[in-house]
Amino acid sequence: MGALLEQLRRLQNVELQLAAIRRGRESKTRHIDVARRQLRQIDEKVQQNHAKAREVQMRIDALSLDVAAQEESINRHRQALNKAKTNKEYAAILTAMNTEKADSSKTESAVLQHMEELARVKGEGSTVEAEKAKVLEHLASAEAGLKAFDDQSAVELKRLESERSEISAKIHLQAVEIFNRVAQRHDGEALAAVTKPRPKRDEYSCGGCNMKVTLEVVNGLQTRDEIQTCKVCGRILYLDLPAAVKSARA
Ligand SMILES: [Zn+2]
Repeated sequence: MGALLEQLRRLQNVELQLAAIRRGRESKTRHIDVARRQLRQIDEKVQQNHAKAREVQMRIDALSLDVAAQEESINRHRQALNKAKTNKEYAAILTAMNTEKADSSKTESAVLQHMEELARVKGEGSTVEAEKAKVLEHLASAEAGLKAFDDQSAVELKRLESERSEISAKIHLQAVEIFNRVAQRHDGEALAAVTKPRPKRDEYSCGGCNMKVTLEVVNGLQTRDEIQTCKVCGRILYLDLPAAVKSARA
């Protein structure tokens, strides 16, 4: 193998390790994103629950005012009963008072119903808060996971990046650009070995996508130290099998 392809293979080796670190980091980041999304949803539930509790409380307050007003009115009628001058007047006041008593007891039972509802809403609120605490715990552990990953991979990342610069400096700029473009497309896998699927046949394939590689390309790889890409997936091809080389020559 020529010097260019040899350097590109070294570069690929570094690039694959960088890609593995990148993938590891992405998976840690995804965990954080999931937890944050859950937190947003649960915060919405908390808001809705608080709004509902406020609404029920306001209805209780309004009904309690009604109860107070009704009781005051009943008291007034009770006093009026004692001052009634005729039976007819007495009966009229009594009827009005009884109607008010019935209304008041309806209002009181409505207050009780709303208080039960408020207790239920607050119970739901506690459940949601407990869920939120769990999600916050997940989020904290996901963030700690990412931090631990970054701390752990920092030295390795620095070493790989400097190794990448060092190797890149030895390669023609244009070749590095091709390499980077292909690496980006295939998650760091910029190179593919030419394979020979059937030992007895002079047929060659790209080890990256398994599509056919022409004999002309194989011969080119054997005789010239230059970049030949797979026509299908674009990976930079190299020869790794002495047997393949020999057959191509024959
Ligand atoms: Zn290919």
